[in-house]
Amino acid sequence: MGIPARQTMKVGWYLFRNRVAKRQRFALVVELEPLFACNLACPGCGKIQYPTKILRQRVSVEQAVGAVEECGAPVVSIAGGEPLLHPDIAAMVDELVARKRFVYLCTNAVLLRRKLDMFTPSPYFAFTVHIDGLRERHDDAVDRPGVFEEAVAAIREAKARGFRVTTNSTFFTNDSPETVRSVLDFLNDDLEVDSMMISPAYAYEKAPDQEHFLGVEQTRRLFRASFGEGRRGRWRLNHSPLFLDFLEGKVDYQCTAWGIPSYSVFGWQRPCYLMADGYTSTYRELVEETDWDRYGRGKDPRCANCMAHCGYEPTAVVATMSSLRESIRALRVSA
Ligand code: SF4
Ligand code: SF4
Repeated sequence: MGIPARQTMKVGWYLFRNRVAKRQRFALVVELEPLFACNLACPGCGKIQYPTKILRQRVSVEQAVGAVEECGAPVVSIAGGEPLLHPDIAAMVDELVARKRFVYLCTNAVLLRRKLDMFTPSPYFAFTVHIDGLRERHDDAVDRPGVFEEAVAAIREAKARGFRVTTNSTFFTNDSPETVRSVLDFLNDDLEVDSMMISPAYAYEKAPDQEHFLGVEQTRRLFRASFGEGRRGRWRLNHSPLFLDFLEGKVDYQCTAWGIPSYSVFGWQRPCYLMADGYTSTYRELVEETDWDRYGRGKDPRCANCMAHCGYEPTAVVATMSSLRESIRALRVSA
């Protein structure tokens, strides 16, 4: 079971209500970035290159709650930067959980063991730990020895204390089906995390390492080979079956980036979490004033190699809801 049944049902009901209301564009997940500061400097990261003045800014709890309530998304992914550096992060999580949002707090886990006491286990809350590979591969990706061991220790402790723990793994050209399988087998079978997210790295213009971003065909080959021998069905992946089909190249989709919008110290980012063509102060303005036809593969060169979930998972989820067969398939996977 990758996605909890409670979340599947609630998101399904939310999609149904939007469909009845004939809404074309709505948010499924908010990517909330309450700060851009981080305690690591990963070579593939495109989020931490802001001037110090920006890195010192924080989204307040009130702003975060207001943004999530305005857009209505049932799921919130708190990223950054490193959210555990935010002084009010626990209060932000508590307020969102109290509103029955499914909250995923993304962290590199360097501070997680020290901060666990600040949080309370809940079916609405999960830590999402960044793990790109086994020890050598991960420490290389984050450019600091010892981070893998600390992340693994933090995952074990969080699980022992009753927290839901999920992971997020990003893959680059220096990955192979073997490295993908080894890390996902380890997370699924040894650490027994609740679910795992996977993503090809997005080619951030600001990232120091520009050499290891995957192209579309490379991404499809990598996931097709990695998922073989029944692994895809065995791993607890936190994605819809159609999004995994998309990663394998079995289906292709248009980007629907309004489905996973990004809110940060700048406001709502246009068009998505990965690219910044300006900001709006409300989600409504973002949806109504963005020329969405300009974005997606084949339209904007910056989108050429993008297969990220923030553009394509919402398309896959809406396609799932539009088909009885796919809805049954998704329910079977989450059962
Ligand atoms: S841990 Fe995340 S936010 Fe921090 S540098 Fe690495 S990729 Fe960027
Ligand atoms: S394809 Fe969509 S999600 Fe990807 S970078 Fe372009 S606008 Fe963003």
